[in-house]
Amino acid sequence: MGMTHQASAWRQSDARPSYERGEAPLAASGWTMPEGEGTHYAPLREAIEVDVAIVGAGLTGSSLALHLTEAGIRVAVVESRQPGWGASGRNAGHVLPILKDIKLLEGFPDAGRRFIDIFREHHTIPFDLSRKHGFECDAERAGYLNGMVSRAAFDKFLAASRYLEEQGFQKVTALSGTEMKGATGSDYYGYGVLYENGGRVNPYLFTNGMIASAKRLGAAVYGDSEARSLIRDGVRWRVTTDGGEARAARVVFCTNAYPTDIVPQFAQGFYPLTAYALTTKALPHEALNLIMPGGATFAQVPVDLNPLVRDRHNRLILSSIPRRGGAHDAESHFRDQLRWIHRTWPATRDMNIELETYWTGRVAMRDREFPGLFELESGVYGLMYCNAWGNVMAPLMGMVLADGIARDRMDDLPMPIEQIQPVRFRNKHELLIRHLLIPAARTAQRLNII
Ligand SMILES: Cc1cc2nc3c(=O)[nH]c(=O)nc-3n(C[C@H](O)[C@H](O)[C@H](O)COP(=O)(O)OP(=O)(O)OC[C@H]3O[C@@H](n4cnc5c(N)ncnc54)[C@H](O)[C@@H]3O)c2cc1C
Repeated sequence: MGMTHQASAWRQSDARPSYERGEAPLAASGWTMPEGEGTHYAPLREAIEVDVAIVGAGLTGSSLALHLTEAGIRVAVVESRQPGWGASGRNAGHVLPILKDIKLLEGFPDAGRRFIDIFREHHTIPFDLSRKHGFECDAERAGYLNGMVSRAAFDKFLAASRYLEEQGFQKVTALSGTEMKGATGSDYYGYGVLYENGGRVNPYLFTNGMIASAKRLGAAVYGDSEARSLIRDGVRWRVTTDGGEARAARVVFCTNAYPTDIVPQFAQGFYPLTAYALTTKALPHEALNLIMPGGATFAQVPVDLNPLVRDRHNRLILSSIPRRGGAHDAESHFRDQLRWIHRTWPATRDMNIELETYWTGRVAMRDREFPGLFELESGVYGLMYCNAWGNVMAPLMGMVLADGIARDRMDDLPMPIEQIQPVRFRNKHELLIRHLLIPAARTAQRLNII
């Protein structure tokens, strides 16, 4: 299919249900453009024997595969579609190297000290892995800039960010209105807080870079291979697909917000939330020195309806939560974003900023602000639910779990292994965030209250 066709996939008459589910065609994701989709991995067509079978090749499964393979463990990855098809090929590209709830870590082994040490060393993992393995994914440590219009929001946010310096994670810089103007090109935000180790990544290329590196080091990677059943086989497990099977001592499910029926518990353990993202075409020349000339990734505080990345193609990537029942409605969501761009950078009103492509994906939210590592039965694990900060946490958690498996010390991980529990009210975030909070915030933004 040609790009024009895919880039307007939302116009097709049958687009609605797939956009609602966060399953817009992957080729509509701006992260696959202009290069197109990556390596096509052939299905599993035989019976193979490995140490670890991984189900799902997003950021989590790909990182786990890469780190296990580096440690000399034999790995097979089965992916229903192709690597990066899930949230990892669809996200907003923000690299946000923070811990959302550092207090939570006090309940971890060693009161969280080991995890904090690991986070200190590896919170820049997208930049580090791409450099180490030599793959290109537009991973730029260009800074993560938080903008505020009110002094109260700034004071509160700065105080909440202090732990990042106290723990030795990264420098946090408070910016004045003049400095914000320099960094954003806009007069709108009188206050700012910059996290120096944040930035951006093309998550689709990042996922594919990791899985290609894993394969090069010896991992067996299969696309178009949905895991259909999981059967105990003595002390081992058999994961079957339509064409073959992988026998393994351990199986790790990395299926996140796109689980199938194979482990029903994983479908019940999170709050799904559909989100959209879009890219503009490359900015017109006259906008280049105007919109985010410093290149940082930008978020608004306290409510962010317009998370913004400017990528290496000088496109803007913007995202949010779609209108109720309107996930396929690219034009109206682009209009929202354009209205914000015009308000924030008034000179752009005379410029031609055009939509390139629009897509949706699914976020897996939990009550705990930390990804979940679950043990279902002896040897069967789930690593998932990275909420909306998987570009750092998914590869990091994959790395940490790989270390525990490679040492054969699952009893000695720096984070707890949980029992999976169904969430009580599965539609909670869809109703609360999509139906109530976001529409209210959109109104507030239109009235220039935020
Ligand atoms: C629109 C959007 C914007 C976001 N923005 C950001 C952001 O800016 N920054 C950030 O850090 N995070 C962001 N996130 C979150 C981030 O994308 C996720 O946390 C992360 O991609 C999760 O990775 P994963 O590998 O766990 O899951 P996924 O990438 O979803 O991978 C799961 C894979 O499992 C496969 N699968 C499922 N069942 C089976 C089966 N039975 N057999 C084989 N394969 C199976 C699926 O096909 C899928 O490819 C965003 C998410 C969305 C949707």
